[in-house]
Amino acid sequence: MSLIVQKFGGTLVADIGKIKNVAQKVIYERKRGNTVVVILSAMAGETDRLIALANSAAEVPEAREYDSLISTGEQVTVSLLAIVLNQLGYPAKSFLGFQIPLKTDNAHKKARIEHIDTQKIRKELKKGVIVVVAGFQGVDTDNNITTLGRGGSDTSAVALAAALRAKQCDIYSDVDGVYTTDPNICNKAKRLDKISYDEMLEMAITGAKVLQPRSVEMAKKFDVRVYVKSTFSNQGGTLVTKEDKDMEKEVVSGITYDRDQAKITVVHVPDKPGIAAALFSPLSGNNINVDMIIQNASLEGHTDLTFTVSKKDLMEAKKIVDATAKKIGAKNIEVDDQVAKISIIGVGMASHSGVAAKMFTSLANEGVNIMMISTSEIKISCVIQRKYTELAVSVLHDAFGLEKKK
Ligand code: ASP
Ligand code: MG
Repeated sequence: MSLIVQKFGGTLVADIGKIKNVAQKVIYERKRGNTVVVILSAMAGETDRLIALANSAAEVPEAREYDSLISTGEQVTVSLLAIVLNQLGYPAKSFLGFQIPLKTDNAHKKARIEHIDTQKIRKELKKGVIVVVAGFQGVDTDNNITTLGRGGSDTSAVALAAALRAKQCDIYSDVDGVYTTDPNICNKAKRLDKISYDEMLEMAITGAKVLQPRSVEMAKKFDVRVYVKSTFSNQGGTLVTKEDKDMEKEVVSGITYDRDQAKITVVHVPDKPGIAAALFSPLSGNNINVDMIIQNASLEGHTDLTFTVSKKDLMEAKKIVDATAKKIGAKNIEVDDQVAKISIIGVGMASHSGVAAKMFTSLANEGVNIMMISTSEIKISCVIQRKYTELAVSVLHDAFGLEKKK
């Protein structure tokens, strides 16, 4: 008998009929003799609706109340699933974050899990009860409700799997695994049988929506076997796991894109110590994440500095950078909100040469201009014009032979 953690995403619990299907999936594991802990998201669209409500109530809702509100979607789905399971003769009990308790720090909207008390859960499991836990939420040391960031129920699931030393953590959604790229924009995309934690993490960070990046970090740290699956088919799925010899052979495993990017250039900045700090400190002070940064070669003591931010932060970032630009004596700032970031990811990149050249040549052959480049051991990202996103993805998918992957 093994302990299995199953997580179901919002589209799979979007109405009662779907929740009844989820119940069957849970019962199936139960009948195979496994002990089951279930984590649920809110019904599809519900968290967005709650966020819109909060934002219509005040320009800047206070974070404590905001989290308290947007965490309620999960309370609805977990209690409904428990009701359905009980009705079908399978004893089940729902738990909210504070009832466990699942303790987090006090960083509202993006809290980090610090500790999960597994006592109550274990007690129920021992009695044969199916435990259904609300994803995305926790409680801080002062008993304030916190949330873990959008997509956070993936992280709830992996954290519970780690705390309970579960055999595996199954993440169910409407996609049946991790693909070489988004099948919605490239019909040659192939599902991967397995992928390493590091590759999955880079893919999640650079735009793949399948898993919240934090959940992958957590899985790697605690060595949790994560299966990305679909409830529609019993087969398939992608195992996210430790790197092995086969994976190292592959130069590129996946291609991601992120259309949620905007580019800001600060023109003709004096090239002297403290300038980057002066520009970027106020941005981070306002919780604006800066992604790629490039600084041009200096000419007669002046340079241009270009960086990207998330589109949703652009207006605020522009205001802040405008003010700083004046202070530091820059000429002006330029904004481009029509960009996208394309990334190629693969653990084999570290030991193969010519990968970057192949990427740049493939894009150049299609007349796609590269505006910015950044690299890590296992990733190369390029900023391009957004209208070329699909083209760039499929050209690179062909160039690196990903249609043959498995
Ligand atoms: N319901 C939350 C969201 O929409 C958490 C999740 O679904 O993972 O972001
Ligand atoms: Mg999700």
